[in-house]
Amino acid sequence: MTPSLRAPKFAILKSCTECHRCQARITVSALMVPSYEECEEGEWSEVGDSALLMYVEAMDEVARSAWLSSAPGIRAVESDTAGFVYFGNVCECGELQGDWFLGKPGGPFFPQNSTDLEAIAVEWIEAPLSARASASRSSWTDDLIARSAA
Ligand SMILES: [Zn+2]
Repeated sequence: MTPSLRAPKFAILKSCTECHRCQARITVSALMVPSYEECEEGEWSEVGDSALLMYVEAMDEVARSAWLSSAPGIRAVESDTAGFVYFGNVCECGELQGDWFLGKPGGPFFPQNSTDLEAIAVEWIEAPLSARASASRSSWTDDLIARSAA
């Protein structure tokens, strides 16, 4: 794996959504980093901001086993929409709940108010993370970190 980002530690987030195929109420999960470095053309640069990781294509073994054991719905699946394989949330009915859907405004991982924010559980993993993924920066991850530290 050639990582595209690395972070000093990370958090496993969990929230709820309704499966868009079978309408079951399911737990969905995502990774968040408090700060990170990103790699572009072999050069690492520091990004001070927190971020939600989306479209995680690969990650180191510690992060992988922590995430997959904590969130059994996470599986490496091919997304027709994204056009590649990433670790996504799969309902028991087999339907992928795509990262785009979960991270769009009003989705479980883009809370619009404090009630939505409160619905997200945060589990910090005190281990460095390296991954091939996209980082989505938004003010709500700062709010979530502030709340989980309180
Ligand atoms: Zn389903």
